[in-house]
Amino acid sequence: MTTELLFRDDAYLRTTTARVVSVGERGIELDRTIFYPTGGGQAGDTGVFIRDSGERVAVADTRKGEAFDAVVHVPAAGAVLPAVGEPLTLELDWERRYAHMRLHTALHVMSCVVVAPVTGGNIALDKARLDFDIDMELLNAANIEAGTNALIARRIDTETVWITDAELDARPELVKTMSVKPPRGAGRVRLLSIPGIDLQPCGGTHVRNIGEIGAIRVLRIKSEGKRNRRVEIALGA
Ligand SMILES: [Zn+2]
Repeated sequence: MTTELLFRDDAYLRTTTARVVSVGERGIELDRTIFYPTGGGQAGDTGVFIRDSGERVAVADTRKGEAFDAVVHVPAAGAVLPAVGEPLTLELDWERRYAHMRLHTALHVMSCVVVAPVTGGNIALDKARLDFDIDMELLNAANIEAGTNALIARRIDTETVWITDAELDARPELVKTMSVKPPRGAGRVRLLSIPGIDLQPCGGTHVRNIGEIGAIRVLRIKSEGKRNRRVEIALGA
């Protein structure tokens, strides 16, 4: 069962209504959702479902389902489960998600300051990292921080762009991340564009304007192997 992914068109939706499609061992599927499922290095959303009775069902995690574009909401242990067909009001843990959006978009910007193939990445609540295939001597924390913050200070609006699989195949230079395959399916690929700075396939949630990220700082740079030089960042100067 495909879930309508409302966060793809509007990452700022904090609440919506939806209907329960299935309740299984893995969790709850809805006809539509604002909850982002773990993927592309970004953690799944948490929040709450509110039943018509006012009863609250805590959502501890969100994951991809088996079907294309299916999303499974994982209820907290001991939560009362809703019934199939039941209408629910969805509420995101917005502070957590917004931190993910700012950090995630910050990684896009940083990937344009460190010019090297990306071999991995991860976004947690308080920090995010990218791994690069690059010599350690070429990574300088002060330079990466200053370069990234200079781009963020340009306060550019981000845009979502869709292209066909064939168009992506014709432009392999768009794919910087070697470890994560671009989100494909239905013949089209979603790209995040930061005009003049970055354009790359990404299915994640981003801020509308990179100025929302605010200044970032480089927490540390360390070697995680020959092709994995890890740059870890946090929000806040
Ligand atoms: Zn992204």
